[in-house]
This record gives sequence, structure tokens and C-alpha cells, in this order.
Amino acid sequence: MKENIRVRFAPSPTGPLHIGGVRTALYNYLFAKGHGGTFILRIEDTDQNRYVEGAEDYIIEALKWLNLVPGEGVGFGGDLGPYRQSERKDMYAEYALRLVDAGHAYYAFDSDEDLKAIRAEYESRKETFKYDSTTRGEMNNSLNMPEEDWRALVQTDISYVIRLKVPEDEDIIFQDMVRGEVKFNSSQLDDKVLLKADGMPTYHMANIVDDHLMQISHVIRGEEWLPSTPTHVLLYRFLGWEDSMPAFCHLPLILKPTGKGKLSKRDGAKFGFPVFPLDWRDESTGDNYMGFREQGFTPEAVVNFLALLGWSPSDDQEIMSLDELVERFDASRINKAGARFDYDKAKWFNQQYISQTPDIELAPVVKDVLASNGYTADIGFAEKYAGLFKERVEFIAEFKYAGYYFFEDVKSYDEKNVRKRWKADNVSHFLSLKEMISGISDFSPAVIEGAIKEFMTENGLSFGVIFPILRIALTGSMSGPSVFEILSLMGKDKAVDRLATSFSHFDKLVEND
Ligand code: GLU
Repeated sequence: MKENIRVRFAPSPTGPLHIGGVRTALYNYLFAKGHGGTFILRIEDTDQNRYVEGAEDYIIEALKWLNLVPGEGVGFGGDLGPYRQSERKDMYAEYALRLVDAGHAYYAFDSDEDLKAIRAEYESRKETFKYDSTTRGEMNNSLNMPEEDWRALVQTDISYVIRLKVPEDEDIIFQDMVRGEVKFNSSQLDDKVLLKADGMPTYHMANIVDDHLMQISHVIRGEEWLPSTPTHVLLYRFLGWEDSMPAFCHLPLILKPTGKGKLSKRDGAKFGFPVFPLDWRDESTGDNYMGFREQGFTPEAVVNFLALLGWSPSDDQEIMSLDELVERFDASRINKAGARFDYDKAKWFNQQYISQTPDIELAPVVKDVLASNGYTADIGFAEKYAGLFKERVEFIAEFKYAGYYFFEDVKSYDEKNVRKRWKADNVSHFLSLKEMISGISDFSPAVIEGAIKEFMTENGLSFGVIFPILRIALTGSMSGPSVFEILSLMGKDKAVDRLATSFSHFDKLVEND
């Protein structure tokens, strides 16, 4: 293992961060923290045509929400910056020129029209044009002209790019932490543009220069970058940096829930679940994309769920905090095969996290959620309310409806069960039960429980007679938290009023039958 572990998450601000990107950030974070290393955020914004306003802020906000806070990077300081590539744009030309001087790159003067024409010509023969060792001899570039000519030409205002001169028929071999040895033949590659006509570097050039200058030890990124890696290896080699080249680790794809094909940003709308960490509105199309945060996921659940999309610990433990993940994450256990996105599993994690959070921690969140529905609760009430419902919700937002009957009249009753159970010979028992309840002085769940049980014994009544009706009268339905807890939290006056209202409603219901 290299001594100084430095990894980077290098998103391009071309839109909101897809959940696959978040997983890449997470694995980088886990790897860095697990080895006492540094997690760096680098913004790769050299493609100005694809730049999207707000995307960078979105990325930073998402990382902060998930507690994946970079140690260096845009917005986080550090000694090897700037960390935004557009602010480094003057640094790259030097390296491209160094490659030209060493004979590993060349100037290409082909106009857009020329390139279009040659591509069309190839297409008409059902072939694809590739700018490479087999075609570069026919093109308008510095390899095909005397040195004084191209040196003179680049001094004029003619437009040109610098391309990598990829050697012919050479095996390029590198180690990948997930895939082991990976081999490409250089003939599969094209002579990638390194420096564009506007003087900006391409992704390949900027990425390699920055990884080198930022002393990146491990490149952990999505599998879609695997085919670019041989080009990167050549760049390291030709720049004389192969000895300090980072190790590569290409993460498996995240697949659609069906297991067929890569999960795309459109799948969110299609399947009805979020594929982004935070809500996002695409200003150019007016499309809205939903985020895990706004859907009511806790950041801990999202992190836990994503960590297991492509990796698992040796004992298959599922619930792990960020700290535990840092401790247990082992890159050698990353899967090669794509990981199927299972939204039900994400919800399960969320439910687990909510139910495991202490009531006192949930209290302020629940208080706010209730307030958003116009329900005023003090923090003590919110804490108890959280305790009553936390096993029953998958999302924080569900707290606002789960116990609405504490704040409003019952909206609808389970009439079928009322009809079945509101029997003439029981009604008087329910009325005296209400009276008895109104006489309990310590309205704690345990005392209420004792009193009701005593009442049942004295009157020879079973649970099956008492509880369904009591529950429906208080809440409208037969399911929910403990009746004693509900009564206690509702408070005596309100509970007794509720019973009175509901019982007279039941009377009318049965009368009208
Ligand atoms: N800017 C690239 C992206 O958007 C980074 C790929 C890499 O990590 O090398 O994913």
C-alpha cells in the first residue's frame, strides 16, 4: 500500500450528482478514511459547453448532507489547489507541449469541416473513422509537414488541437484493484485530443496532470472510465510519471431494478424513486428530479444502502454506521458484477435507521415535521410521539400523518369493524369504561393499563371486545401503537372527549343500518 493515501472525487458540474456518483464519492471517502488518508473534491469543469449553473453547489451540498466532507477541495481549502480545473487552465499547455517536444503528441490542424467530411465518407462505407496510427498519416497535422512549417503555423491564428500520438499495436497493461490485470491493445485507442482549440485541456489531459500534481495515490471511479485508462497510462508514461502513477480501482455499474442495463437519471421518474441525493430542477427543460433527502431518507440510511451497492463485508452485516463502514471497508471485496438498485432495500434501511434513532434525537425533527403540517407540539410531546411511531414509518415525513388524530378529529372510522363490534350488550360497558378512564388521576400508560385491565376483569370482558373498539374510537383504525400509550399522550380530557364523540358516532352508524 502506498504511504500517503490521497484520493479524489472528480465530478464534472454538468448536472446534479447521480446516485452512482455519490457511491463513487462514498467509496473514495471510505477508502481514504480507512487508511488515514485524504479525500479530495476536484471539480472537472473544463468542458464549458456542458457546464450547468448550480451543479457545483449541488455536489457540495450533497456531500455535506451525507457527511462525506472532503479534507481538501473546492470549498474545503488545501495546499495543492486550486481544485477547480477552470482555475488551473494555464497549467496544462506546458505538459501538452512537453509531449509534443518528446514526439508523443502532435499538432492537428484539421478543420471541423474536414473531420466531418472524412467521418461521413467512412460512414458511407459502413465504417467508423478513428484518428489513429492508421489514419494520421493522411491528415492535416504536424507529423506530415516539415518542422519549420508547423512551428510557423502555430504562430499564426490558425486553429489547432494537440493530439496524443498513440503507438501502434502495443499492449498496455495495468492493474485494477477490482479486475486484476487489465490489458488493452493500443490499436483499440484513438489519438485523443489533449488540448482543445480554445486552449482548454480535455478531460484526459487535465485529469492526469491534476492527479499527478495533487499527488493522488488511488483513482477510484466508475467502470465507464475503464476504457480511458490505457490512454491515461500512456500519458503517465510519456510524461515520465509512471513510477508514481496512481493505482486504479473501477467500480461496478449500478443497474436498473430489473437488473438489465445501467440505472439512468430517467429511471427515477420511470420507476417512481429518487436517483439523486437532493431534489434538482433542470432549468433548461423545467424537469424536476426527486432527491433522497426530500423523499425523507436519513443521510445515514443512504450511505449505508449505497455502501452495499457493489461491496459487502465478509460477514454480510447490513446495518453499519459511517464510522463502522470506514473501519470495515475493504476495496478487495468490491464486486466486479453490476449492483442492482433495489429501492425496497433503501426504504428498509431508512426504516431501520429511524427506528434505531433514540426518541430524544428524533424529537426536534418530528417537531418540525409536525409543524410543517400546522400541528403544534412541544419537544416533550414530540419525543413521546416519535417513540410511538418510529417503528411504523419508513420516512420521516410519515410522522406527520401517522398520528394526525392527536391533533385533529378522526377523519374516517373503520366502519366495517365498528358494525361488527358495537353491540347493544357492550355499549353500556364502553360508557362505563369511559367514565372509569375519566376518573384515572395519574394518566401514565402503566396506570391506565392497570385500570383498564382491572375493569375488564371486574366486568368479565375480553381483550377482543374492548381493544378494537377503543382503538377505533381513539384513532379511527384497528392498527397503531399501544392504546395505553395513545391515551396517555393524548391526555385525559382530549381522550375522554374523543371517546364520547366516537361512541355517539358509532351509535348513529349502527342505528342507520
Ligand atoms: N470528471 C470525471 C467524471 O465526471 C471524472 C472521472 C475520473 O474520476 O477520472 O466522472
